[in-house]
Amino acid sequence: MARIVDKTLLAERVVLLEIEAEKVARYAQPGQFVVLMPFETSERIPISLHNWYKEKGTIEIVFQVVGRTTLELASLDVGNSVYTLLGPLGRPLALEKYGRVVFVGGGLGIPPIYTIARELKRVGNEVCSIIGARTASLVILEERIREASDELLICTDDGSYGRKGFVTEALQELLGQKHIDLVIAIGPVPMMEAVSHLTRPLGIKTIVSLNPIMLDATGMCGVCRVKVGGETKFACVDGPKFDGHQVDFADLRRRLSMYAKEEAEALEKWETKVWRRESP
Ligand SMILES: Cc1cc2nc3c(=O)[nH]c(=O)nc-3n(C[C@H](O)[C@H](O)[C@H](O)COP(=O)(O)OP(=O)(O)OC[C@H]3O[C@@H](n4cnc5c(N)ncnc54)[C@H](O)[C@@H]3O)c2cc1C
Repeated sequence: MARIVDKTLLAERVVLLEIEAEKVARYAQPGQFVVLMPFETSERIPISLHNWYKEKGTIEIVFQVVGRTTLELASLDVGNSVYTLLGPLGRPLALEKYGRVVFVGGGLGIPPIYTIARELKRVGNEVCSIIGARTASLVILEERIREASDELLICTDDGSYGRKGFVTEALQELLGQKHIDLVIAIGPVPMMEAVSHLTRPLGIKTIVSLNPIMLDATGMCGVCRVKVGGETKFACVDGPKFDGHQVDFADLRRRLSMYAKEEAEALEKWETKVWRRESP
């Protein structure tokens, strides 16, 4: 059991939880994730580590309520406990001096950028972050990402905050202005695919963080398999970060939508049971 010590609503249906997890906090590295079950009867779901405090022995995660399990997680309050929490999982990003690194983060891809950018900056990289959302109220964690970056560009699809347009448009402009050594894109699959498409002809190394459906997260069940460079990889133990130029995004999209009907039914059934409050 892992006790929740803080809970913040960052945007509509987007929640930050600070959870006691002393060992996860002690061993966490940038780019890793945890797997948790809100209740004994819940599914196991993977959520990226947003941040951790080694001294306090706590971790922070940010998640969006999209279905039954995230709904259950959002129903927990400060003082309640998450039934199980396993981590840190996944391969961390190597903390090397790459040079000028550009992060591209969309929606729920923004939280995991924070510690990766902070640590890459700490080891001497120049970090520029481009973060985007549909509209101003969905731009989250601006101050933290600003603190972790040398430069921050904010984009909204409707122009209500920052520059109007997609993060990929801001990246395209930047690619024409500066030499860039590494691009790290985290967010919706179409965004990561578009970023990889932009950087491939320029030969700029591009890392994406894949979010396939994942179950055991220890490399045994194979549910999170993805195709990278013509080979089958398990996102849980081989990733979740992969070379964006090698990823078969069409296969990922197909696998992600395999259970759409069942997910919609589960959400409908559980929404009325769990989501009794107006907001988490
Ligand atoms: C490595 C990794 C890191 C992630 N980090 C975050 C994060 O930091 N914040 C966040 O909000 N979300 C994150 N996700 C996605 C998160 O796991 C799903 O939103 C969650 O599992 C949805 O569960 P649900 O029951 O609420 O929704 P469902 O109704 O069951 O599903 C809604 C959608 O979520 C995805 N999904 C469902 N089950 C899983 C599963 N077991 N594993 C992965 N995806 C699933 C599918 O795309 C599905 O269409 C991450 C996924 C992975 C693989």
